[in-house]
Amino acid sequence: MPQRIKDVYGGSSWGLSIEIFPPKTPQGDSALFETLDRLAVYQPDFVSCTYGAGGTTSKRTVELCVEIQKRYKIASTAHFTCMGGTREELLNWLNFASESGIGNIMALRGDPPQGQASFEPVAGGFRYAHELVSLIRETFADNGIGVAGYPEKHPEAESLEIDITRLREKVDKGADAVFTQLFFGNDSFYKFRDACGQAGINVPIVPGIMPITEFARIKRITAMCGALIPQELASRLEAVQDDPDAQFEIGVEHAIKQCRELVDAGVPGIHFYALNRSQACERILEAMGRTAVL
Ligand SMILES: Cc1cc2nc3c(=O)[nH]c(=O)nc-3n(C[C@H](O)[C@H](O)[C@H](O)COP(=O)(O)OP(=O)(O)OC[C@H]3O[C@@H](n4cnc5c(N)ncnc54)[C@H](O)[C@@H]3O)c2cc1C
Repeated sequence: MPQRIKDVYGGSSWGLSIEIFPPKTPQGDSALFETLDRLAVYQPDFVSCTYGAGGTTSKRTVELCVEIQKRYKIASTAHFTCMGGTREELLNWLNFASESGIGNIMALRGDPPQGQASFEPVAGGFRYAHELVSLIRETFADNGIGVAGYPEKHPEAESLEIDITRLREKVDKGADAVFTQLFFGNDSFYKFRDACGQAGINVPIVPGIMPITEFARIKRITAMCGALIPQELASRLEAVQDDPDAQFEIGVEHAIKQCRELVDAGVPGIHFYALNRSQACERILEAMGRTAVL
């Protein structure tokens, strides 16, 4: 049985998970597997694969998860969103994932498709991720379930406090761990973690780290998800906007510092948004003394 999310955290070392996305071309597939060849030696506890907007990569997500488990003997986690269809269609997909040997699901609402201002649930489907968590827990009692948390609050939420009460609902419905949106200032994570504890959320809260490798790309990503780039970091990156190598070095150096501090502060694990590339994660893992088993 592949490792379940609930069994990853709380041991003597911090849990490691790597998030990737389904490539759109055969070349992208080759590059992804080269990346995974390089990262697998650090023995991640699982690799998670995203689920595309509008369900475009619906089957691909599961197929990639299956391939990862087969090639690397590493557990995988399939992301799934409420955009996947009606309740019945969601169930069909969950059955497909389960029959394919996938034992962990990252249960999400999903973002509105491009050009649509707000999230509209599918008719006969779900409006919130907690409904998907309930469906998974009721139907596949042994499944591992991860959910999303937002140290700087979800962009649609009225306040961080309200957002955390909704996170609590996802945990009460059966989530095993919370994986956070990317953030660049650890203070926001510590405040979020403390507030979650006060709100009675007692599952592992795993920080999500995206190493900055290209300033222009990270600006696009943060504009979409609402994560803040601290002024000092932004100024350093602005100063080298014509020098991609310097941007990479600043980004990796920042991520190493962030990860070291987080591990020292006792986080249960780190979830890397690897963007299908290995170089930055390899540098960070080496700097953190994570042993590569060759
Ligand atoms: C680790 C991680 C992985 C992700 N992977 C993917 C992916 O693979 N594919 C993808 O499309 N997106 C992915 N996302 C993005 C995610 O789909 C978006 O952030 C989305 O906007 C919210 O999803 P959620 O699951 O947090 O939704 P929810 O938990 O449903 O929250 C959405 C909003 O609704 C509010 N809300 C929740 N419950 C209630 C309630 N009962 N009443 C009123 N308001 C409520 C919340 O406060 C929040 O503002 C990921 C995000 C993270 C952090």
